[in-house]
Amino acid sequence: MIIDCHGHYTTIPSSVAAWRQRQTAPSADPTLIGGRGELEVSDEEIRETIEGAQLRMQRERGTDLTIFSPRASWMGHHIGNLETSISWSRLQNDLIRRVSDLFPDSFAPACQLPQTPGEPLDAALEELERCVLEMGFVACNVNPDPTGGYWTGPPLWDAYWAPLWEKLCELDVPAMMHVSASANQNFHTTGSHYLGSDTTVFMQALSSGFMNDYPGLRWIIPHGGGAVPYQWGRLLGMAHDQGWDFWSVLDHIYFDTCVYHQSGIDLLLDVVPTQNVLFGSEMIGAVRGIDPTSGRHFDDTKFYIDNADLEDDERRMVLSENALRVFPRLGVGT
Ligand SMILES: [Zn+2]
Repeated sequence: MIIDCHGHYTTIPSSVAAWRQRQTAPSADPTLIGGRGELEVSDEEIRETIEGAQLRMQRERGTDLTIFSPRASWMGHHIGNLETSISWSRLQNDLIRRVSDLFPDSFAPACQLPQTPGEPLDAALEELERCVLEMGFVACNVNPDPTGGYWTGPPLWDAYWAPLWEKLCELDVPAMMHVSASANQNFHTTGSHYLGSDTTVFMQALSSGFMNDYPGLRWIIPHGGGAVPYQWGRLLGMAHDQGWDFWSVLDHIYFDTCVYHQSGIDLLLDVVPTQNVLFGSEMIGAVRGIDPTSGRHFDDTKFYIDNADLEDDERRMVLSENALRVFPRLGVGT
């Protein structure tokens, strides 16, 4: 079974986008905070938005199952207040569950969490438990910078985050460390904010060593790990100089393969231990076009992995076996 660890519901029905606009408008309809108002989404609408998009591409590319979460750039944790974020997260996660119910063999659900700058994580823990224990979710997305590109919150080693790390260990689910849209015009959302965050998350883990306090804690760093594989020698050298335990970080951290050219994938697979790489494409995401030099979609990362210089058993690890290890709940009736 070929498992794509990184997919979002980017083709969400337009009525949901309109709902979110109303919820976050300056004169927001108060019934959309703490409730859903009139919004109804039919199974037919969900089918239509999936069948011609993610499902068709899965079939064309020969992948089987996608770990599927709400659109990351729309999580928008910096918008509104905690109540805004709770309502939005619940609505989005409920939709993801319905996608998985309609296409149980093709999509396994991962949730977004209600995080708001300056607020405690209790609501996030509550939503995580609801999704995992009541709705069979297999993973979640954690936003390391809910301020949307200002990074004024506590770093990931801070005691602020400890209850979330404990809960992830208790539930045995991994977290993809995925920021949302940039509210800071200095950072392009998918071009620099995402990749800067991926690098930042790794550095916070490496320089603090805090993950060793949580033996079962597992993070997936998306987008191929930002600059980390490319700058592997720099980070390894810094660890050597500073006395940081570089290799123990890899007991906890996995990199996806959302790198959209062959040379980048080759470097990732060459540098990062094979057991720490998970196939991911983030298809119908940041880059939707076709590479004129190959005639294939830039985000068809399975094509690059198929063409990479890997032994068969290594390719199986990347495409399937590593994911089954990192997402143990995949086997528990998703
Ligand atoms: Zn993503």
